[in-house]
Amino acid sequence: MKLNIGSMVYDLKLVPEIPIESDQENVVITAGYYMPFDEQIQVSLQFPHQIRKVTLWHEVVHAMLDELGLNGLMTDEGFVDALAKQIYGFLEKNDIQKLYDYLGDKNGKTVKTKAKAK
Ligand SMILES: [Zn+2]
Repeated sequence: MKLNIGSMVYDLKLVPEIPIESDQENVVITAGYYMPFDEQIQVSLQFPHQIRKVTLWHEVVHAMLDELGLNGLMTDEGFVDALAKQIYGFLEKNDIQKLYDYLGDKNGKTVKTKAKAK
C-alpha cells in the first residue's frame, strides 16, 4: 500500500516478522522498520493490531523527522515513540471530520454540531 509522507511516497508493507541484526551475534525482533533508501515502511504481523497501528505512527514520525532534517530527533527512539503515541491517541479519540466541520469550510460556513470526544 502506498503512503505519502511529506514529499515522498513509501510502500507500506505488512510482513511476517522483522529481524534486525543489532550486532554479529544478536538478532532483535522489532514491530516496525523505516527504510528510507528503499522508500519503504514495514510493520510486523507478529504484534496485535493496536501495536501495529502505534508502530505505523512511530515509523511515520521517523520519516517526517528525517524529511525535516532533524537527525538528532529522528534517531531519538524515546522522542519518536512518545510523539507517535500522542498522534495515535489523538486520532483514535477524536472525530477529525467533526472537528473540521466545527471549524467551518473555506466560505466561513460552520456546522452547528458540537465536536465530541469519542
Ligand atoms: Zn524507531
